[in-house]
Amino acid sequence: MGRVTRIVIVGGGPGGYESALVAAQLGAEVTVVERDGVGGAAVLTDCVPSKTLIATAEVMTNFADSHQELGIYVDDGTPGTLDRPKVGVDLDVVNKRVLELAQAQSVDIANGLRRAGVDLLRGSGRLDGPRRVVAELEDGTTETLEADAILISTGATPRVLPGAVPDGERILDWKQVYGLTELPRELIVVGSGVTGAEFAGAYQALGSKVTLVSSRDRVLPGEDPDAAEVLESVFKRRGMRVMGRSRAERVERLGDSVIVHLADGQTLEGSHCLMAVGAVPNTQGIGLEESGVFLKDSGHVRVDRVSRTTANGVYAAGDCTGVFALASVAAMQGRIAMYHMLGDAVSPLDLKAVASNVFTDPEIATCGYSQAAIDSGEIDAHTVKMPLSRNPRAKMQGIHDGFVKLFCRPGTGIVVGGVVVAPRASELIHAVSLAVDLHLTVDQVANAFTVYPSLSGSLAEAARRLHRRDRV
Ligand SMILES: Cc1cc2nc3c(=O)[nH]c(=O)nc-3n(C[C@H](O)[C@H](O)[C@H](O)COP(=O)(O)OP(=O)(O)OC[C@H]3O[C@@H](n4cnc5c(N)ncnc54)[C@H](O)[C@@H]3O)c2cc1C
Repeated sequence: MGRVTRIVIVGGGPGGYESALVAAQLGAEVTVVERDGVGGAAVLTDCVPSKTLIATAEVMTNFADSHQELGIYVDDGTPGTLDRPKVGVDLDVVNKRVLELAQAQSVDIANGLRRAGVDLLRGSGRLDGPRRVVAELEDGTTETLEADAILISTGATPRVLPGAVPDGERILDWKQVYGLTELPRELIVVGSGVTGAEFAGAYQALGSKVTLVSSRDRVLPGEDPDAAEVLESVFKRRGMRVMGRSRAERVERLGDSVIVHLADGQTLEGSHCLMAVGAVPNTQGIGLEESGVFLKDSGHVRVDRVSRTTANGVYAAGDCTGVFALASVAAMQGRIAMYHMLGDAVSPLDLKAVASNVFTDPEIATCGYSQAAIDSGEIDAHTVKMPLSRNPRAKMQGIHDGFVKLFCRPGTGIVVGGVVVAPRASELIHAVSLAVDLHLTVDQVANAFTVYPSLSGSLAEAARRLHRRDRV
C-alpha cells in the first residue's frame, strides 16, 4: 500500500469543507485551517443568513400580496376589514434566529468533518512554498504543516468604496446587517446585482422604505433581461424607488441619517445604507505569488478546469478563483481538485450546466446557456417564453408575475438552458437542470407527466411548444 497523501486546505467554506469530506473518503490525511468558523462566509455571514432572513420576508410578501385576492384578513375583532393587514416583523427576533441557525449549521459541518477524520485548526493559514502551510492559530501558537497537495479556498470579502466605509451601524455591508435590532426606516441599497436586489426586496417586504441605487440601466444587469424587467416592475409596484444609471460616489453619516451622494450631484437621504458593490478575493498576504501561484489583475487565483493553479500541487476553489460566485460551484471545484490530486476519476468543471437562483420575490432561476448567449450568436437555439399568468395553478394562487423560458438546439431539440421566474423558481429549475445535464430533448421533457394543476406544467408546455414539425 502506498503512503497516505497529506492534504492541507486553507479556508473552510463550501470550497474547503466539501473537499475535505471527499479527500477523507478517498483515504487522504486532511487538515483544514479556518480563520472564522467552519462553513465559511457561506454559512456564517452570506448565503445561509441571507436566505434565512428572506424566509421571513417571503411570508410577509405572500401575505401582503395575496390577502385581498385570496380573501384573507387579520382577525382583529373587526371581521370583514380587508384593509392592508397590520402585520409586522420583530427584526431582533428574526436576526437572532438567523445567527443561531448559521452557528448551528457551522457546528454540524464541523462535527461531520471530525467524524470523517479531518483535522480542524482554528487560525489563519499562509503558504510557505507549494508544499507547506504555516498556520497562526487562535491560541497564538504557530503550526507548520507539510503537505503533498494544498487547496486554497479562502473566499472573498465585501468590496469597500473609499468614500463609503461601513461603520456597522448606519453604513453597513451585507455581513453587518444581522446586528440590527430594529428595522431600518429608510434603507438605501447601493448596488443592484444579486446581493443588492435580494436585500432590497427582503427589507421592502419586512417593512422598510427602500431605495435601490443601480449604476446600470436596470436591476440585475448580469441576469436574463426579461427576468430583470419583471423584477424591477414588481419592485416599483410595491413602492420601491429604483434609481437607474445612478452611481453612488460617497456615503456620509449624519447622526441617525445617511446621505448618499450620487455622481450626478443628487443626494439621497435615508436612515441606513447597505453597500453591495461586489467582493474582493482573500488572496493577499498569504504567500501565494511567492509560492508560484499566479494571481490575475483582479487578485483572483488563476485555475484550470480541474482546479489546478500555476504552482504544482497547489489547487484552488471557490470565490478566490472568481470562476462563478456560488457555493455549489465552490464545492464542485473543490471536489474536482481532490479527485484530480488523489488520482480518482475526474470530469473537468462544466459551467454550462450550472443552476443558479436570485432569491427575490419572484425568484429568478437559470440554468445552462443564457438568453444573452443566444442573442450574441454564441449558440444557435430556439426559444420559447410562457407567461405564468396563463398557468391554472398560478391563477388559483394569485400569481401574476413571472414566466418560464426554455432553450433548445435547432434540429435535435436538445434542451440547452432555461429561465424560471416564479415563487420558488429555485425548486422548479431542477427539471431544466436535469434536462440540460442529461441532454434530454424537448419531446422527452414534454412527455414526462406533470401534476395538474402545477407551475411545472408550464415547463412541459414550453417543451411542447418547441416540438417542431420539421423534426418529425
Ligand atoms: C449575501 C450573499 C448571499 C449569497 N447567497 C448564495 C446562495 O444563495 N447560493 C449560493 O450558491 N451562493 C450564494 N452566495 C455565494 C456564496 O456565499 C459563495 O460563492 C461561497 O461562500 C464561496 O465559498 P468559498 O468556499 O469559496 O468561500 P467562503 O464561503 O467565503 O469561505 C472561505 C473561508 O476561508 C476563510 N479564510 C480566508 N482566508 C483564510 C486564511 N488565510 N486562513 C484560514 N482561513 C481563511 C474565510 O474566513 C472563510 O471562512 C452568496 C453570497 C453573498 C455575498
